[in-house]
Amino acid sequence: MEWLVMSTERIGFIGLGVMGLPMARNLITAGFSLTVNDRVAERAAAVGKEGARLAGSAREVTENSDIVISMVPSSPDVEAVYFGRGGIAEAARPDLLAIDMSTIAPGVAKKVAEKAAALGIRTLDAPVTGGEIGAVQATLTIMIGGDADDVVRAMPLFQAMGKSVVHIGPHGAGQTCKLANQIAVAVNNLAASEALVFAASQGIDLEKCREVLASGSGSSHAFRTFAPKMLARDFKPGFTIDLQQKDLRLVLDTAFDAHVSLPGTALTHQLYSALQQAGGGKQAHIALIKAIERLSGVEARTSS
Ligand code: NAD
Repeated sequence: MEWLVMSTERIGFIGLGVMGLPMARNLITAGFSLTVNDRVAERAAAVGKEGARLAGSAREVTENSDIVISMVPSSPDVEAVYFGRGGIAEAARPDLLAIDMSTIAPGVAKKVAEKAAALGIRTLDAPVTGGEIGAVQATLTIMIGGDADDVVRAMPLFQAMGKSVVHIGPHGAGQTCKLANQIAVAVNNLAASEALVFAASQGIDLEKCREVLASGSGSSHAFRTFAPKMLARDFKPGFTIDLQQKDLRLVLDTAFDAHVSLPGTALTHQLYSALQQAGGGKQAHIALIKAIERLSGVEARTSS
C-alpha cells in the first residue's frame, strides 16, 4: 500500500473489456485519477460513473495523462491505439510513459517501443496472466519488458492491479514470457481434457477422479481450476477460444521464425480450429474438451 500513497501520476486507460474494465476499477479504488477510452462508448461510461474522466480518443486520453495503459485484443489494435489516427503518438511529449498490457507479438512490441522512442515516448510491454478473476481481484501476474527505471515508475500501478510483478528483460521480453505461459496453458488444458474423457470412457466416478488428479503428480492449474468447470459444462468466458487462438498463432509464428518445434502447441491449435469452425470461438478456452469428446464419442460431465 505504501506505493499507492506515494504516486500522484495521472493515469490513462484505453480498452475496457473483460480485463481492462476491472483493472481500471482497481486503479480508481487505489486512488488514481483516471481518464479512459473504449471504442465501445458504453464500456467507458461504466467507469465514468465510478469517477473516471471520459475521453473521445487515445490522443485525448494521453493529453490528460502522465502514464497511459492499453488493454486491447491484438497486435493491429495496439498499433492503431499508438500510431493510428487520434492515437497516443499524436500527444507525444517527453516523460510520457505508455504501457501496453495486451497480449501481442513480441516483434510488434519491440517495433512499437522503437517507433515510440523516436517520438520521445517511453514504453513497457506488460502482459498479464490470471484471467478475469485475477483482474477483478487484483491478483494478476504481470510480466514486463522494458527499462528498469520505467518499471519502478509504474510499480504503484502494477501493485494496484496484480500480485506478482516480474521485470523479465528488455522491450518484448514481457510478451515472450506471456507466450511461453500460453503454451503451458494450452497443453495443460489438453492434458486435462484427455484425462477426463478417458476416465469417462471407462465409467469411473469423474468427480473422485478429478479430485485425485488435482492433487496428483500430473496436476496443474488446468486440473485444479479448469477441470471442475469442464465437468459442470460451464463454458462461459472469461478467456475465449478466439483469444487463445490469437495467442497460439503468435506462439507458432514466433517459433516458426526461430525454427523451434512445438508439436503439442500445434496440435492444440488445430483442435481449437475445429471448435471455431463449429461456431465455438466465443466459448471459454476450456471448451477444448469438446474437441476430444467429439473425436471419441464420449462426454465427460457430472451434471445432467
Ligand atoms: P476484450 O475484447 O474483452 O476487450 C478489449 C477492449 O478493447 C474492448 O472493449 C474493445 O472495444 C477495446 N478496443 C479495441 N480496440 C480499441 C481501440 N482502438 N480504441 C479503444 N478501445 C479499443 O478483450 P480482453 O479479454 O479484455 O483481453 C484484452 C487483452 O488481454 C488481449 O490481448 C487478451 O489476449 C489479453 N488477456 C485476456 C485474458 C482474459 O481472460 N480475457 C487474460 C489474460 C490476457
